[in-house]
Amino acid sequence: MCYAIPGKVKRIEDKFLIVDYFGEERKAHNELSQIKVGDYIYAQGGFAIRRIPHNEAQEILSTWREIFFDLQKVDLALSRLNQERKDIDSRVLSILDKVNYEIKPQKEELLYLLSITQEKELDFILKSANFLRQKYHKNACCVHGIIEISNTCSRNCAYCGISTHNTGLRRYRMSKDEIFCAAQEAIEKHGFKALVLQGAQDLNYNFKDLANVIQCIKNELGALVIISFGEIGPHALERLYKAGARGLLLRFETSNPQIYEKLHPGYTLKDRIQEIKQAYELGYLLATGGLIGLPGQSYQDILNDLYLAKELNAEMFSFGPFLPHPATPLENLKPVIEEEMLKVLALARFVDPQNAKILVTTAFETLSPNACREGLLSGANSVMLNATPFKYRELYSIYPDRAHQSEEVGEQIDKTITLLKQLGRAPTDLGVRA
Ligand code: SF4
Repeated sequence: MCYAIPGKVKRIEDKFLIVDYFGEERKAHNELSQIKVGDYIYAQGGFAIRRIPHNEAQEILSTWREIFFDLQKVDLALSRLNQERKDIDSRVLSILDKVNYEIKPQKEELLYLLSITQEKELDFILKSANFLRQKYHKNACCVHGIIEISNTCSRNCAYCGISTHNTGLRRYRMSKDEIFCAAQEAIEKHGFKALVLQGAQDLNYNFKDLANVIQCIKNELGALVIISFGEIGPHALERLYKAGARGLLLRFETSNPQIYEKLHPGYTLKDRIQEIKQAYELGYLLATGGLIGLPGQSYQDILNDLYLAKELNAEMFSFGPFLPHPATPLENLKPVIEEEMLKVLALARFVDPQNAKILVTTAFETLSPNACREGLLSGANSVMLNATPFKYRELYSIYPDRAHQSEEVGEQIDKTITLLKQLGRAPTDLGVRA
């Protein structure tokens, strides 16, 4: 199985390849040696990750060619703005007209949209986000895999099920060989082209081993490696970048320093942001964002979160619902409702219509069984599937009853492909900014 379409190199422009996917051109950083015009490659996250033989590419492309243009038509039909405008709040209409005609909205206008709860208005907001997603990104969609390599955390975040609050949890840390085997299975058996290696804030990571395994995944298996190990400091970031990691998933969680410090005692938002900025300087693609529904969080805070993600140069916006774990001090707080999360995804699209890859997080899928479908129809264009070995998956219990916890990887892929086909989405790489 492989849910990714190979592209043909049309031109080479300095460090970039211009890659063609059935007539659509996208840009990919080139780190592969001896690439020529006419070669076929896989790209992920805007990086060329692997060259593939012509005959293999032709075979895959002939299968896709039959359905690619049909998928585009489905996507176009689903993203059309044929909204009945009667009875819709006039201020919502005028803001969305601006947004849809590429006029930058004011922050107060987006704040007004965030406060909307009425069904018709909300529906128009979500449809406008989907319209913009299609306009700028066509039907491209990323499907990434995640391997959770350690649940051994030194921090006491007030909501997290693998924090030090959860004293009854069995802890694990995957060995270098286990990580490589899990990555090999995800890439070679299941066809993933981009993998997130995620772990808790573990004080005992062996960065020599991690660098080694990242190098092997990149060079031997040919995949984009995104790291997510909390705050590891500039030296470890640099070491892992040199080994081949090209993405960093590190959320700032909230742009409100008071809320941040209450929920993460002993740690500061300033340090978190500093780490994200250092990673960007090193060249990492950034996936960042926040938690929605935190105690004391206002709509203004959420809007500030969205603008902060843009200001930090997020390639991928990763916003998920706050889901407190029962073994933590915040066990009794209720999570947000699905509509609030959809509004945030839509607003993320309005904040950065042309560039944002917007993720439907596993936490959102845990909150609602419809999250993936509805999120993709509200501006999102990226999903994450869990490729953690079963024996560890349950132990990475950051919140209870996680989506995909008991699903085989193949089962998750089948469901995702079915959904993406229903929505007319295709796995072409979304490319990068020039
Ligand atoms: S949120 Fe991250 S740092 Fe905090 S306890 Fe959980 S895994 Fe550790």
